[in-house]
Amino acid sequence: MQLIIATTNFHKILELKAMIRSKFKEIEIFSLKDFPDYEMPEEIGNTFSEIAEAKALHGARALGFYTIADDSGLVVPSLNGEPGIYSRRYAGENASDKENREKLIQKLKEIKDENRFAYFECALSLCSPDYVVKTISAVSEGHLLLEARGRNGFGYDPLFIKHDYNKTFAELDEDVKNRISHRRKAFDKLTPYLENELLKLISTS
Ligand code: IMP
Repeated sequence: MQLIIATTNFHKILELKAMIRSKFKEIEIFSLKDFPDYEMPEEIGNTFSEIAEAKALHGARALGFYTIADDSGLVVPSLNGEPGIYSRRYAGENASDKENREKLIQKLKEIKDENRFAYFECALSLCSPDYVVKTISAVSEGHLLLEARGRNGFGYDPLFIKHDYNKTFAELDEDVKNRISHRRKAFDKLTPYLENELLKLISTS
């Protein structure tokens, strides 16, 4: 099977590649970095799942391979769900991770410490070359700091401490984050569907 990870986000590519490789040696993995002429669609949808599904379908239609798409972000219930589906562009269309974190920290300073509960959500969508789509999602719950800690990961990782841990995602080794993250949980839920597609390919070859 040839599978495209429909993102240009370097960190998502690294995380998803490591997860796929650890379970499926037989899958040949590509990302949108291998298809520089492909133009990603505008994000369409009101939820992580809707957006992931639209990305996966668009990729499979344009490129003709199995396509896996991720849409994810950080949700802070006491900030009415911000930054949510706008996580990547919270401080503006081309904002850096640092600018997004700084905007979030300013907002967090306005709420009580005990209301800094947050969760990451990851929706993963798998689309086959004949456009059958399966979408699942998973969350990772924790709380947020008012200052960044750690150098690993990306996005809001330096602010996020998962429940039962005392290090931010950016302080954890990458393989540890990859074992416990929202993306990992979502990937584990998607695994049976990927296995099923592999079995179908084997039985028809
Ligand atoms: P997307 O590319 O529209 O799915 O937006 C993803 C954004 O959500 C990223 O740019 C980060 O700001 C945030 N995000 C998603 N997953 C993670 C994660 O695992 N760690 C930290 N930030 C994340």
